[in-house]
Amino acid sequence: MRTVYVNGEYLPENEAKISIFDRGFLMADGVYEVTSVLDGKLIDFDGHARRLERSLGELDMQHPEDLPNLLEIHRELVRLNEIEEGLVYLQITRGAPADRDFAFPDPETTTPTVVLFTQNKPGLANSPAAQKGIKVISIEDQRWARRDIKTVQLLFPSMGKMMAKAAGADDAWMVEDGAVTEGTSNNAYIIKNNTIITRHLGNEILHGITRAAVLRFAQEAQMKVEERSFTIAEAQDADEAFITSASTFVMPVVEIDGTSVGAGTPGPVAARLREIYLDESRKLAV
Ligand code: PMP
Repeated sequence: MRTVYVNGEYLPENEAKISIFDRGFLMADGVYEVTSVLDGKLIDFDGHARRLERSLGELDMQHPEDLPNLLEIHRELVRLNEIEEGLVYLQITRGAPADRDFAFPDPETTTPTVVLFTQNKPGLANSPAAQKGIKVISIEDQRWARRDIKTVQLLFPSMGKMMAKAAGADDAWMVEDGAVTEGTSNNAYIIKNNTIITRHLGNEILHGITRAAVLRFAQEAQMKVEERSFTIAEAQDADEAFITSASTFVMPVVEIDGTSVGAGTPGPVAARLREIYLDESRKLAV
């Protein structure tokens, strides 16, 4: 049984409890982060901690823990649950006021709820999906307009994943005004003539921590990067396509809406980026 963290306590998962009045439960009034673990160490922890600060700030939510303490909790959970490869999930909600109300509760009397748990994922780095590549479908992006805040309102992305499954694919790329925003839980990229193309940052997409690292490593390796939007037609005509996220790292996309991308197998640039990302971030892991 897992040991999880809830509001200052490490508990067996079946003893961990939060209130039915918690605004995370009632209103999806919460933010989260997912940090991957390789070799028992946290990948890109600082990036996730900084984005958490930003998400909390954008929602006027108090930061309940100081930064070193948060790192300590992550490490303690990895240790207690003996995670070599896997994830640490963190969620902070606005807490549980005395009653349900649309107005935010007084932060003096309602303190945030903090929950962390681990997910054991042996084989995360050597995933068979990375060898084969994944298939995506395109769907209209019907999420709210502040996708740069990492909130727990994940119903539409979840529906998108089910639409993909129903179509025999692995994931969906969302499209707005004719341009790809991102995947249901990842950032989307194409490669054309050795240039890596991915949507520019804005409120329309989550600012992926893996995205930032991969683009930095790509530039350090003298690869060309263009941050701009692209269409599904352009992606189908690209040499390669891939996604990034904390839990998939760099994952090749080999089919979009039934059309093969390039040779229909994972391409060399995505494979190289995956290797560089895994090597470099392992070196920087804490
Ligand atoms: N976009 C969305 C919508 C996501 O949910 C995620 C992962 N949570 C990402 C992008 C990738 O972000 P990261 O690299 O920080 O995991």
